[in-house]
Amino acid sequence: MNRNIAVIRGDGIGPEIIAEAIGVLDAVAKRYGHTFSYSEAPMGGSAIDAFGVPLPDSSRKTCLASDGVLLGAVGGPKWDSQPPENRPERGLLKLRGAMGLYANLRPARMFAELSSTCPLRADIAAKGIDFLVVRELIGGVYFGTHRTEMVDGEQRATDIMSYSEHEICRIAHVAFQTARQRRRRVTSVDKANVLDSSRLWRKTVCAVAEEYPDVELLHMYVDNAAMQIVRDPSQFDVILTENLFGDILSDEASQITGSIGMIPSASLGEGTCGLYEPIHGSAPDIAGQDKANPIGTVLAAAMLLRHSFGMEREAAAVEAAVKSVLRGGYRCRDICQPGCTPVGCREMGLLLREAIC
Ligand code: NAD
Repeated sequence: MNRNIAVIRGDGIGPEIIAEAIGVLDAVAKRYGHTFSYSEAPMGGSAIDAFGVPLPDSSRKTCLASDGVLLGAVGGPKWDSQPPENRPERGLLKLRGAMGLYANLRPARMFAELSSTCPLRADIAAKGIDFLVVRELIGGVYFGTHRTEMVDGEQRATDIMSYSEHEICRIAHVAFQTARQRRRRVTSVDKANVLDSSRLWRKTVCAVAEEYPDVELLHMYVDNAAMQIVRDPSQFDVILTENLFGDILSDEASQITGSIGMIPSASLGEGTCGLYEPIHGSAPDIAGQDKANPIGTVLAAAMLLRHSFGMEREAAAVEAAVKSVLRGGYRCRDICQPGCTPVGCREMGLLLREAIC
């Protein structure tokens, strides 16, 4: 297969981790007989420096014309004084909007080799952590009306959370379809005891569930879900939730698996073209020092292979390579434990390329 990947190297450690992810993709292409070509799409602080804006029109077009977008991370102190409309992160929000990316998939998976970095009790960690948060990404309170006004001599601020049936339907389908490729269990998280938007959420998810009789559906209030994620994460397969709840729960979920440097994410819309990135930022404190862990970005590349290219075998090969290198005792410094071999970003990339089979 021939596929074109738009590459946003970004700022800070972005260029370092992207270089290693591309190396792994090239190893996959060679091993499985594909051709991947890469189109550069500057975004974030480096784009502000070169073009004056965080998302140049040419980059937006390059991404929209690609088969999938791979992103490092954007932002850093150099651009903190930019006006809100011109900050590096603004480019990312604009790109998500332009690509219509309404579904965010974030796996919370702990590699058994890293269980000692898990902050949960050993008996809980021993049961394993492997679930996926499917978060609605372009609706809810983040995209509702925001207002601050004077009422009776004091300020009052209002943020409106609203959802339409079609917005809930389309993300529910993503969750059920994804669950079919996993352990066939969806836990829909809401606050239906209090919020109207959650009551519509629950009713609509139940209606969609009728099309997936082979997938088990459970409902959970968000406060309970936050508690259950740390009490017994092994009970979850796919967590389906709205934008605000998903933002909070997916960060909680990533923390219990060990390091932020290990977790990928995928943002998907109607077509097959998605945006794939590690969940962390540009880590300016370690940029340019060969200290970054590239595994989150490499696993994001595996998600790109799976979700945008339909290359399940190739995605599994990348995940197996990560497992094999960890089993060999090699660790970047963020996940290094006594007795392991510390490696830098470049050496980790090399080991991963060599482990593709
Ligand atoms: P961060 O995620 O960049 O860093 C937090 C800590 O984790 C730092 O100590 C860093 O060294 C460490 N870390 C992060 N990724 C790592 C990796 N791959 N390997 C080893 N250690 C790693 O968060 P921050 O410092 O709050 O943000 C820095 C910049 O990134 C800010 O400008 C922020 O706005 C931006 N940011 C961008 C994105 C994105 O592009 N999607 C996401 C979050 C933050």
